[in-house]
Amino acid sequence: MSSVEHYDTIVLGAGTSGLAAGAALKKAGKNYIILDSKKEIGRPVRSTGAVSLEWVKRINMPTASEIVSSEIRRIKFTTDLGRSVKLKYPNPVGIVYNFEKYEKYLATKFAGNLNIQLETKVLDIGKNTVSTEKGDFSADSFIVALGPQSRFGKKLDKQNVLVAYEEIRKAPKRDDFDMILWFSDMAPGGYFWDFANDDDTRKIGVCYYPDSSKKPKDVLDAFTKKFPELEGPMIETMAHQIPLARPADVVTEENRAYVGDMVNAVLNTTAGGLQGAFWSGTEAGNAAAMNDLSRYQAKWDQEIKPWLLRHHNIHRFMHKNGARSINRLMLYSKFMSGKKKQKIFGGL
Ligand SMILES: Cc1cc2nc3c(=O)[nH]c(=O)nc-3n(C[C@H](O)[C@H](O)[C@H](O)COP(=O)(O)OP(=O)(O)OC[C@H]3O[C@@H](n4cnc5c(N)ncnc54)[C@H](O)[C@@H]3O)c2cc1C
Repeated sequence: MSSVEHYDTIVLGAGTSGLAAGAALKKAGKNYIILDSKKEIGRPVRSTGAVSLEWVKRINMPTASEIVSSEIRRIKFTTDLGRSVKLKYPNPVGIVYNFEKYEKYLATKFAGNLNIQLETKVLDIGKNTVSTEKGDFSADSFIVALGPQSRFGKKLDKQNVLVAYEEIRKAPKRDDFDMILWFSDMAPGGYFWDFANDDDTRKIGVCYYPDSSKKPKDVLDAFTKKFPELEGPMIETMAHQIPLARPADVVTEENRAYVGDMVNAVLNTTAGGLQGAFWSGTEAGNAAAMNDLSRYQAKWDQEIKPWLLRHHNIHRFMHKNGARSINRLMLYSKFMSGKKKQKIFGGL
C-alpha cells in the first residue's frame, strides 16, 4: 500500500500569500506544508517591494531593518502632460523591501522556520489530494496561492491585466524624491516608476495594458531615454503580470481557499499586490486553522474586498482618458488643502 502524507492544511505556492498563510498555520500549531515549484524562496524576484507603512502596520507585515532597502518620505505623481503633485512627509510613509530578503524572512524568521517543500510542481488538485511531480499529498483543506499566471486560477484577459517590467539600474540616489510615478500614454492603464533602492541603485520600471506589438524593455527604454538621470547600467531585471480585474466575489470553494493574485487582491491604482496577498493569506491561514474557511470568506466580504474595490473603481476613473484623466485630477488638486491632497494622492 502506498503511503500518502496527510496534513491538516496544504498551502500551494510560497509567494507572499502562501508564506503568510503558512505563518498563520504555524502560529496556530497546525500540521501543514507549503509546496512550491521554485528552487529558492524569494527568487525569482516578483516585485519592486514598495508598501504603505500604514497598511504594513495594520496587517502586521514585517518591518525588520534587515529586509528594508529604502524608506519613502517624498513622493511625486506626475504626467507627461506637465502636471504633478508632490507629497513630502516628516516620517516614512512607505518602505521598499529587498524582495528576496523579505520572502526569506517570511519563510524563516517571521513565525519561525516554515515547513516548505520546494521544487515540487503541483499538477492537479483533487478533493482531498494534490498530485505533484514528487508524488501525492493529502489534506483536510487547501490554500491555493499560485499567483497570477496559474492554470488553477481564472485566465486573465487583456483588459484585466497589466504587463510589468522592471530594471534595477546603477544610478545614484535622487536627492529630491524617493518614489516617482509618471502617468503617460506610453504606459496606458499603468505608469512608469523610479523608486529608491539602495545608495547606488534604483528600481525603474513600467506597467501597462498588454500590447503584443511592443516589448516591455523597449517601452521602458523609449521613456527613460528622455530622462538622462534614469540611465545607468542594468543590474537585474524582472517581468511578470499583475491582475487588474475586480476582486473576486467568491474566494472559498468547499475545502479550498484562494488568496493573493489568484483572487485579484491587488490595489489597482498602484498595482501593489503584496499587502492584499499578505492579508488574504493570513486570513485564509487563520480560518483554515479553525477548520472554518467561511471565516475567510466573511473577512474578505467585509474588509478586504471593499478596500480592493475602492482602488479598482478609482483606477478605472484614473485611466478613462489616458494620461489626460490623471492630469485633470492633478489640476483639481491645486484647489485642495495640503491635507486633502495627501489623503487623495497618498491613499493611492
Ligand atoms: C514588476 C512588478 C512589480 C511589482 N511591484 C509591487 C510593489 O512595489 N508593491 C506591491 O505591493 N506589489 C507589487 N507587485 C505585485 C506583487 O508582487 C504581487 O501582487 C504579489 O507578489 C502576489 O503574491 P502571490 O503570493 O499571490 O503570488 P506569487 O508571488 O506569484 O506566488 C505564487 C507562487 O506559486 C508558485 N507556483 C505557481 N504555479 C505553481 C505550481 N503549478 N506548482 C507549485 N508552485 C507553483 C510560484 O513559484 C510562486 O512562488 C509587483 C508585481 C510585478 C510583476
